[in-house]
Amino acid sequence: MPRRARHSFSHRSTWTGRPTGNPGRLTPREAEHHVAEIMRWLGETSAQATEATNDGGLDVVGRHYAAQVKHYQGSVGRPAVQQLLGASRPDQLTPLFFTSGRYTDAAVEFADRTLVALFVYDAQARDVAPVGTTARTLAQRGLRCTTPPDVRCPCANRPR
Ligand SMILES: [Zn+2]
Repeated sequence: MPRRARHSFSHRSTWTGRPTGNPGRLTPREAEHHVAEIMRWLGETSAQATEATNDGGLDVVGRHYAAQVKHYQGSVGRPAVQQLLGASRPDQLTPLFFTSGRYTDAAVEFADRTLVALFVYDAQARDVAPVGTTARTLAQRGLRCTTPPDVRCPCANRPR
């Protein structure tokens, strides 16, 4: 199976609240909002772009998942994925990486070993593709609640 096979998630009805205007020309900040919408669409209904402007901070945070966004910055390497993993740990958030570029082989290898989910989005095509086994698994089942079933969680993304 090709590593960067594209999935359009066309089985889902509508991508509500998607950015208007020219989605292919997003600013980095707009890209963070775009990714928050992708995450809500995938099931993390509480996902919001953060106010953090420092690099290395989490760009989008929800109740169970957190994302780093790199918009048009070439290849994402292993150090950036490692940094996200570290940043997501204190709050026990599941780390997701989104780029409009690509990932190095070392980044994909590291992400699959440490269970970081990598995605490539194409804002203009309104497409998002999982990269690597962790992301493919998440994309198939959606961004579900990660709280154990016997513990109450008020979030709306419980598996059905
Ligand atoms: Zn939950």
